[in-house]
Amino acid sequence: MKRRVGVFVCECGTNIASVVDTEKVAAAAKNMPGVIFATNYKYMCSDPGQELIKNAIKEHGLQQVVVASCSPRMHEKTFRKAVEDGGLNPYMFEMANIREQNSWVHKDREEATQKAEDLVRMAVSKVLKHKPLKIATIPITKRALVIGGGIAGMQTALDIAEAGHKVLLVEKEASIGGKMSQIDKTFPTMDCAA
Ligand code: SF4
Repeated sequence: MKRRVGVFVCECGTNIASVVDTEKVAAAAKNMPGVIFATNYKYMCSDPGQELIKNAIKEHGLQQVVVASCSPRMHEKTFRKAVEDGGLNPYMFEMANIREQNSWVHKDREEATQKAEDLVRMAVSKVLKHKPLKIATIPITKRALVIGGGIAGMQTALDIAEAGHKVLLVEKEASIGGKMSQIDKTFPTMDCAA
């Protein structure tokens, strides 16, 4: 796989840009090994932001993409889709979290910018090790085996059964209940344990 990384640094309005010098991060990214294109943009998850990524993939023949923005929980799927629409395997993508892990928790602009550069450098190193992946669908038998009939095992078996699946509960002793069945009463309600 060729090393042609594109780095996209998001400003998130002022969410990131008020603490991190995104222009400086993009400039630093241009000198990182494997990076052939880097830029910053106000809202990378917006339609124009995603278009920027798709166009850059085509224009610069990118093979890997790094977006430095928010948490992957927020927009990993968005950017994987943009990368795929740009013509790459969606897993040739990595996200650096320079918002929740940086601009939202730091005040010093210089140090936060340095940290953002480090996070981007790590994401670039990681994405260079990525391999294209395919989503596989595997048929499964929706039955469960729960081993151990103590409180946790019993509750697990009940939860699975209530979700509509067959479940087998296996217990090595003569009766279920585990340690709980050996206790007389339980604090604080003093209910009978059995
Ligand atoms: S990608 Fe994340 S950090 Fe960037 S504008 Fe969207 S929400 Fe904000």
